[in-house]
Amino acid sequence: MPEACIFCRIASGELPVALIAENDHGVVFRDLHPQAPAHLLVIPRRHVASLAEATDGAELGALLLLAADAARAVGLADRGYRVVANTGADGGQTVHHLHFHILGGRAMHWPPG
Ligand code: AMP
Repeated sequence: MPEACIFCRIASGELPVALIAENDHGVVFRDLHPQAPAHLLVIPRRHVASLAEATDGAELGALLLLAADAARAVGLADRGYRVVANTGADGGQTVHHLHFHILGGRAMHWPPG
């Protein structure tokens, strides 16, 4: 775990945040700078730099099921939501610990910017 990784500190509990959902593989909490009425982040407990570095299919599957659970828990399941994994420089990734954004509470636009 890289010492400076903010999401490792959240996943380990060193930096306390209110968790929306969790399972053996990951935790879900609210984004600090929400881009939609509901904006959650799903992160793995262990450090994985990005989707491009991910190798564990069971872990990825568990994180996506956790995303669906969290969306359900905050009332997004009926109207729908978007799940995004910004990956690398062109993907717009700024925190280099794998995360899935869950965005909902309003209609999303396509194509994204
Ligand atoms: P990305 O730009 O896809 O790498 O997304 C990183 C996200 O992490 C951004 O939406 C930030 O607002 C969010 N973020 C950064 N630090 C924190 C934090 N301490 N707690 C919650 N969200 C954070």
